[in-house]
Amino acid sequence: METAIKEVSADYQSQIPWQKVVQSEAIVIHCSDPHFKEHFDNFLKNHLKIAHPTHIVIPGGITLMLPLLGKGFKFGKQIVDLVSDISKARRIICIAHEDCMIYKEHKILEWALSKAGMNIKDIQLKHLKEAGSTFELWFPGTEIQLYYADVEKQGDNDVVVFKEVA
Ligand SMILES: [Zn+2]
Repeated sequence: METAIKEVSADYQSQIPWQKVVQSEAIVIHCSDPHFKEHFDNFLKNHLKIAHPTHIVIPGGITLMLPLLGKGFKFGKQIVDLVSDISKARRIICIAHEDCMIYKEHKILEWALSKAGMNIKDIQLKHLKEAGSTFELWFPGTEIQLYYADVEKQGDNDVVVFKEVA
């Protein structure tokens, strides 16, 4: 089997200088949905002034870290443990978003929602708050912030508005 790196003219050199010493300001957990990626980056950089976020990108965001999903609980803690050891960031930011396909397509959630008389946003907010209190227990002394990204009409445009969840 061929294991050597191919020496081809299509190699690409990043235009940004490499910096060895960069302090990450926060661990940010959010969904992998490509529709929201640039909005998350924009929010972190321009609003929260976080230049070097350590992203944990998981389909559905914090969902996999909740006890609700069984094995995901331990796996979630292992991931955050690992990145917090490496990044030394003392701040965790969790972002959920409107129109999340992971929530919309999840059959167990759909069942749980109809049983509890809740809508998707209700359960996302509930999950965010559960994640927040879980992280406070796991990582005492770490600042935890929760946000929900809504898609709103503004004139003829749809815009993404980030709201802090208390
Ligand atoms: Zn999503």
